[in-house]
Amino acid sequence: MTRRIFHSILGACLLVMFATIITTVFTLYQGFVSEEVNRLEKETQIIAASLNRSEDISGDIEILASTDIRVCLISAQGIVTYDSLHPENEEDHSDRQEIIDARTSGTGFAIRHSKTIAQETYNSAIRLNDGSFLRLSQSHSSLLKLFGQSALPLVLLIPLLIVFTWIFARLLAAHIVGPINAIDLTRPLEHIPYEQLRPLLERLEQNNQQIRQQMKQLEMKTSEFEALSASMDEGLLMISETGKVAFANKMANFVFNLKPKGTLQENPGLEALANLALSGKEVHKILHKNGRIYSLEFAPVINGEKTIGAIVLALDITEKQEAQKRRQEFTANVTHELKTPLQTISSSAELLSAGLVKPEDIPRFTGYISQEASRMISMVNDIIHLSRLENETDTVRQIVDWNAICEKVVSKMEHAAEVSHITLLYKGKKALVNGSPADLEAIIKNLVENAIHYNKEEGSVSVSLFTDQGMAILKVRDTGIGIPVHLQERIFERFYTADPSRSQTGTGLGLAIVNHAASNLGGSVALKSKEGEGSVFTVRLPLADSSSTALDRAA
Ligand code: ADP
Repeated sequence: MTRRIFHSILGACLLVMFATIITTVFTLYQGFVSEEVNRLEKETQIIAASLNRSEDISGDIEILASTDIRVCLISAQGIVTYDSLHPENEEDHSDRQEIIDARTSGTGFAIRHSKTIAQETYNSAIRLNDGSFLRLSQSHSSLLKLFGQSALPLVLLIPLLIVFTWIFARLLAAHIVGPINAIDLTRPLEHIPYEQLRPLLERLEQNNQQIRQQMKQLEMKTSEFEALSASMDEGLLMISETGKVAFANKMANFVFNLKPKGTLQENPGLEALANLALSGKEVHKILHKNGRIYSLEFAPVINGEKTIGAIVLALDITEKQEAQKRRQEFTANVTHELKTPLQTISSSAELLSAGLVKPEDIPRFTGYISQEASRMISMVNDIIHLSRLENETDTVRQIVDWNAICEKVVSKMEHAAEVSHITLLYKGKKALVNGSPADLEAIIKNLVENAIHYNKEEGSVSVSLFTDQGMAILKVRDTGIGIPVHLQERIFERFYTADPSRSQTGTGLGLAIVNHAASNLGGSVALKSKEGEGSVFTVRLPLADSSSTALDRAA
């Protein structure tokens, strides 16, 4: 801008300068010419007056000659009779304009230009009383010649003037542009250097305010989006058309091993898949990382027919996959677990019906059938119970004394304990809980059954029920085989049997039922066990008073 103003000023100054020089020279020249013409006409009149009075004019002619004035006397016919400059001149000047004019009006004046010598000759003529003509002529340099003569001083003067003009234009441009440059464009109305700029600056301020507002909204939306996406369990990655990471939330950085504000080049595998998405293809991949399973979806973002970027979503599907696996295992287990007793029943029945069993073996075979049948019944019952617990349907709740239930169950188990040479002890205290008696019974029954079953010869099982801080606490302690640490979580899974050799009569559903029943009642199960030493299962259930609030809360 400064440059442009500078050039404009410089151009204008030079133009004015040259125009001034030309105008001044021309005006001066015009003034000089009219003065010269006046003077010449006056001289002509004075000499003509002398001649009309028949006075001697030789003195006047001498004076005039000294001022370069040429005096000519021309006869009435137009023939030169006297010429102060060329005495031998006898030319016919009747066709000269000044003579023609003087013949008709008494006076005549004409300027003649000589291009060859760049001169102008002024001719002033008067008709004398005797009809002849007096003509005074004077030559001057033409305007062009005058310019030519003054060329040298001009050649010296013009560069000087150009330099001055250049400096002046520069200073002026800086002076004009300086305050404009000093305007604070973020706050344009704070200092307005030229009033003429006010409308423009006001408009600018309006735009600034709009931009500030939009920026604020954008920042708000961005931070909202960032906060939302940061707390997302899914990884979200946005890739620009040029393959740059436009946005990546925390999870995406973790899944793809990217640094915050990192680039795709940090992960070549990701880069290759992103490039596929940028070429318009949808890509699906499964990624295993740190024991988790992620489903990766690469989708191109298409605007019209053009791919303007790509979005990558990383979903943690570990639980989903595990649940699916568990479902598959469950189906396989149910099928297997039901098939095994059925096979025994079926083969025993076949042998019996074919009469292939000796009479003395018949009780043994019928024993198998009844044993397997009751195992199947118990398994089907457990499956039904478990699915009821899982769906939490048909659960009739009532306030019951868990102690009474425990006493009843333990006493029923005494015989089984005795058969296995296990000492079974119970110590309980009234504990009112709000729950289904069937579930409460299932908890104690399964725990005590296991404690006897997975015990050692001459071992012991001690069961206690007490209350503490609003909770009913049931402890089933045995001196059995114990459970290895790495299996302690798994034994609560459905059909999981830690020791298949011992669990031939079990279904692998008992602890799953205990766990579900306890958590459905707002409680929990904990296990402490040492391999070879025994286990302690602790079930905590809220007492009826607090449990009703817990249930309300759960509802
Ligand atoms: P099961 O019908 O096989 O007993 P459970 O679900 O009741 O099924 O138990 C799962 C597994 O946990 C058992 O197979 C057994 O290996 C282990 N287990 C359960 N209770 C005990 C215990 N008191 N001592 C040692 N192992 C136990």
